[in-house]
Amino acid sequence: PISLQRKHSIATMGADGIGPEVVNAGVQVLKKLAKLDGTFELEFEEYDWSSETYKKTGKYIPDGGLDKLKKHDAILFGAVGAPGVPDHISLWGLRLAICQPFQQYANVRPTKIFRGTSSPLRNAGHGDLDWVIIRENSEGEYAGQGGRSHQGKPWEIATEVSIFSRHAVERIMRFAFESAQKRPRKLLTVVTKSNAQRNGMVLWDEVAQEVSKDFPDVNWDKMLVDAMTCRMVLDPKSLDTIVATNLHADILSDLAAALAGSIGIAPTSNLDPTRENPSMFEPIHGSAFDITGKGVANPVATFWTASEMLIWLGEEDAAKIMMDAVEAVTERGIRTKDLGGNSRTKEVTEAVCKELETVY
Ligand code: ATP
Ligand code: MG
Repeated sequence: PISLQRKHSIATMGADGIGPEVVNAGVQVLKKLAKLDGTFELEFEEYDWSSETYKKTGKYIPDGGLDKLKKHDAILFGAVGAPGVPDHISLWGLRLAICQPFQQYANVRPTKIFRGTSSPLRNAGHGDLDWVIIRENSEGEYAGQGGRSHQGKPWEIATEVSIFSRHAVERIMRFAFESAQKRPRKLLTVVTKSNAQRNGMVLWDEVAQEVSKDFPDVNWDKMLVDAMTCRMVLDPKSLDTIVATNLHADILSDLAAALAGSIGIAPTSNLDPTRENPSMFEPIHGSAFDITGKGVANPVATFWTASEMLIWLGEEDAAKIMMDAVEAVTERGIRTKDLGGNSRTKEVTEAVCKELETVY
């Protein structure tokens, strides 16, 4: 018997649309993995907070809900957003209502092209893409500051104020340099728009310069976000770790996911690097109501997300085994439609569980 028993408590929250389908698939694979591995234990507790709850009760998160959630080691999240609820209400009602109080200031989005899949970049001759996009997740353009005056009038004015504090820019920059330093190429690109936005973006440039002094072994450069979109498409190999603001990185990471093949494979980690609060892991994709309930959602983004969660929890070996199994299944052509296959969510999930059995 193995004496070292590590136990991790995971809150699961599928929420809306295909969220519950892909989170259930993720939990199924995680349970199988933990059982086969035997050196660690996973405990799951399901939270049914969603737009349905909101429509019934007027609240996404019940009273005292965050205190309950805080007791877990990590949160595996699906997607939020439903017909009948404006997107800005659902996003702020659930996802950001967890990210903000839990200080999940670093949003990390790795991108790679899976073995055997086709993708716009692979088709263009760039086979083994490997990027990590780091998104400032606490302020910036999504700080929620601003307002509307003369609502509905032809002379209405709305302001959407970006907030950039030295504190938050510095901590995300430090996180980005540390992340770049841990990767083999030690390469970081700092993305801004400091030619046109002359306050907050110039602060980003200055802080990057300052923080870089503590990381002499990291090779870094600066890019304007518009030029960055071209570079990602035309010269992807020149990139490795990328750090950008809340808005810029949101856009760049969707581009990255599409370039890598499908939004149905891309993961996100919302990290509180201080580890005071649980971090939250979710697929990049949204609730995708067009395919909800049809059993065809690609669960791979959630598998990769779950694997990133395991790395955060210190289970690197199991995380790697899980990702290898996922890639082996994808490579064999067991894929959902978005990756050019015709398998269903359940078939992909069961194939990954089977693959794990052959590895252990
Ligand atoms: P949100 O508003 O939260 O971003 P959304 O409903 O706009 O969500 P997205 O998740 O952004 O939908 O995805 C856009 C489209 O991509 C979906 O309508 C769906 O067809 C497809 N898609 C997204 N995720 C998946 C997935 N896991 N598997 C298969 N197709 C997906
Ligand atoms: Mg969308």
